[in-house]
Amino acid sequence: MRLESRVYRPTEFLFLHGRKKQKYLQKQKKFPLRTKIEYPLGYFLMKVVKKIVGCINQNCIPWKQYSDFKNILMKKIFLSLFSLAVFGLQAQTDHTSFLNAIDANAAQYGTIAQTIWGYAEMGYQETKSSALLQETLAAEGFVIEKGIAGIPTAFSATYGTDGPVIAILGEYDALPGLSQKNLPYKVDNNTRAGHGCGHHLFGTASAAAAIAVKNYLKETGKAGTVKFFGCPAEEGGSGKVYMTRAGLFDDADVALHWHPNNKNAANPGAALANKSAKFRFYGRSAHAAAAPEQGRSALDGVESMNYMVNMMREHIPSSARIHYVITRGGEAPNVVPDFAEVYYYARHDRRDVVIDIFDRIVNTAKGAALGTGTTMDFEMIGGTHELLPNDVLQELMHKSLSQIGGFDYTSKENEFAKRIAETLGKPLNMAFVNGVEPYDPNALPMGSTDVGDVSFTVPTAGMGAATWVPGTPAHSWQAVATGGTTIGNKGMLVAAKTLALTAFKLLDNPKIMDEAHAEFLEKRGADFKYIPLLGDRSPALDYRN
Ligand SMILES: [Zn+2]
Repeated sequence: MRLESRVYRPTEFLFLHGRKKQKYLQKQKKFPLRTKIEYPLGYFLMKVVKKIVGCINQNCIPWKQYSDFKNILMKKIFLSLFSLAVFGLQAQTDHTSFLNAIDANAAQYGTIAQTIWGYAEMGYQETKSSALLQETLAAEGFVIEKGIAGIPTAFSATYGTDGPVIAILGEYDALPGLSQKNLPYKVDNNTRAGHGCGHHLFGTASAAAAIAVKNYLKETGKAGTVKFFGCPAEEGGSGKVYMTRAGLFDDADVALHWHPNNKNAANPGAALANKSAKFRFYGRSAHAAAAPEQGRSALDGVESMNYMVNMMREHIPSSARIHYVITRGGEAPNVVPDFAEVYYYARHDRRDVVIDIFDRIVNTAKGAALGTGTTMDFEMIGGTHELLPNDVLQELMHKSLSQIGGFDYTSKENEFAKRIAETLGKPLNMAFVNGVEPYDPNALPMGSTDVGDVSFTVPTAGMGAATWVPGTPAHSWQAVATGGTTIGNKGMLVAAKTLALTAFKLLDNPKIMDEAHAEFLEKRGADFKYIPLLGDRSPALDYRN
């Protein structure tokens, strides 16, 4: 049978391919075949379906063999196929256009981040920083709830009322004594706070991601809710612990977060559980030379306690960490101090070990008070769980980061980075600024984070973006300096886009959230009960005073 004489039934027509189809279609002269197009498969499907729908409408030859019933049925099937093809094409472009929108607003986000960098407000004092992010999100149509969990600078910003709830965490507190200018050499004298952990970028990029997710929900009409959480006092204040304790994350399906870093990476990572407290000793003041026998030194209490803790280090797991600073030690050597205070942290990657070590630290304080004739009490300041990683979400996050990719420095930024690298004594390795670190499922725990408590409440995943020059440690003047430049702003955009893209994928395919939740329940254990490590104390709003 010659090709051109053959009349194909629509089902056969769909499966025609290659030269046969080309010849047939050319014969029909309805439309020319185009092979060099952007989406060959999608275009092909669309054209074929269009052609058939056209045939149905015109009642052309192949359809004459079919009854009206079949005609309508097939029309419906092909129309659905057609919309699927179009939808597929749209989904591809939609992610791109929503991600591009973040880039298009880069200047605005840069200004917000740098304004917060300038405020450099410490934990629970982030009044202006919190307000700026609230204004930004309110202007985008988010519903703001402020002062949540009894913390004036904590807030949530919600868009949407239905579907899965995607929580995005943002922070904005600075560190005491780390003030620095955005220059590649140390200039300040550490009298003010500074953004040594890059939380000005953290809060801003997370807000940018939340706005992108809002736009995605709005324009695609997908079911879902995005909830930005403004989380104060991450640095030692355990802000998210109070928020977790208040049940604020209970209705979230996933929580996404990120952290400034010296590389682009999205590893599961880990964090150390942490308990911190301020131990206060009370003595009796007297003239240190004329009447020392009448005095009882509170500083002696602190020093005795520290001595015992330092002895104790030999008898705890070697992976544990204990550190302290003496926050009050008297005012003048000729006055026996009647008050002294020492601020302690105890950390380990298992919270039960931390609880045990902390109890032993309390005993050293009691012993020190007894031996020095002073009295003591202590105030719990912070307490965070270790991080519960979620492989399902983390792998998705890593894929998203790999899609977004790294960025290049301009020659000016490169000059700045070289000078910073010199102060660090490290070569400037740009591999994971320009690109992304390969997935490492066994990344080691670094510090502690109150995201730990969130991760025991809702499946959680995070990533790090190269906002600092490679080799820069957190909490350093170099981190503060680079965070105040365009390098910080560029790294922040990688984070914003990665979080947004991860959220888009979750909204496209909510089944991933079910898988993440199954893993979460299994890892957490059936008999898990959330017990905050800082107990039932109210938020330590004055811990930086
Ligand atoms: Zn931090």
